Amino acid sequence: MQRAASIRLDPDALRHNLALARGLAPGVGMWPVIKAEGYGHGLEWTARTLAEDADGLAVSAVEEAEALRGAGYDGPLLVLQGPRDAAGVRRCAELALQPALHARFQLDALAQAGVVLPEVWVKFNTGMNRLGFVPGEADRVEHALRSAGHGGQGLHWMTHMACADDPADDHNAAQLAAFRSIVAGRDGARSVANSAALFAGWGRGDGHGADEAFRARPGIMLYGCHPASVPADTPPEGPDADLRPVMTVQAPVIGIQHPAPGDGVGYGATWTAHGGERIGIVAMGYADGYPRHAPTGTPVRVRGQLCPLVGRVSMDMLAVDLSGVPEAGVGDLATLWGEGLPVERVARAAGTIGYELLTRVAGRLRPA
Ligand SMILES: *Cc1c(COP(=O)(O)O)cnc(C)c1O
Repeated sequence: MQRAASIRLDPDALRHNLALARGLAPGVGMWPVIKAEGYGHGLEWTARTLAEDADGLAVSAVEEAEALRGAGYDGPLLVLQGPRDAAGVRRCAELALQPALHARFQLDALAQAGVVLPEVWVKFNTGMNRLGFVPGEADRVEHALRSAGHGGQGLHWMTHMACADDPADDHNAAQLAAFRSIVAGRDGARSVANSAALFAGWGRGDGHGADEAFRARPGIMLYGCHPASVPADTPPEGPDADLRPVMTVQAPVIGIQHPAPGDGVGYGATWTAHGGERIGIVAMGYADGYPRHAPTGTPVRVRGQLCPLVGRVSMDMLAVDLSGVPEAGVGDLATLWGEGLPVERVARAAGTIGYELLTRVAGRLRPA
């Protein structure tokens, strides 16, 4: 019997989903985002699996890029948050990283560092108000970089969409138009699209200047999770059947309970039995990354059937009503999400998003 919760990773699914992203934006460079330990799948495993099929990779911080270089990845590497200081700038130069620059303090750090960066991305805030120069700074930033010798052919332009998961949202058109006017007449590659923007058809921004070099930054879709919020009645195969889950989280049933009518199950006795139920205790809990706030009714897959979680999630156990699967018992593997149970469906039940469940899975579950 398998004793502990564990995850299985499907490398073919990861590559399949990247091919699907390419199909959404033919001719656009694909730079998979593998920040947050490859969205919980493991930084090195994800990089290794995607390296050959990707045009580059993207992480958040210089430290993650250092780990990848240390693991032997020598392809193009975009650092989405860029360097924090002059030492970070020097690391970017030494490791041939392509930092995104989003604020004045980074231009100061560049000046202090005394190195020249051949490939730099200038990030603009077109309406998300998270990171980025404001559009009116474009000329000044470009002049500052070029006059110090940075970029040359390798000066690129990027922005990030706040609402692409709802293509009808007005913010999208405003952001795309703002970016188009920033980059008009400038040399270099452009990058707009995350997963949601690829699904919306914005791999090349709003399509103006379609002959320019575009690079997309897909993240969540590569891991098989749809970026849009998932309606309650989404079928088990998920909102987009072409995406394949990469991570499947499983844990064994380690006990069976037959509570009497009125008996509570778990801490706080928040769920009470009618009588006649068979309750399976599964070796997965919030310390493993299962959401503690997942309510009674959250689906768990056992022997191909979806069974409702009951009562409170414990630190390393949870309870599932197996009454509908009489053949299930101790030693069976329950699937918490993954194959046959899209993570976005579990996320919806728990009031969160697939991104959070994937990135919170405990490192101890991942294969070495
Ligand atoms: C995380 C991130 C992405 C990837 O977004 P997904 O929604 O996971 O596709 C792309 N660009 C930037 C700047 C990001 O921070």
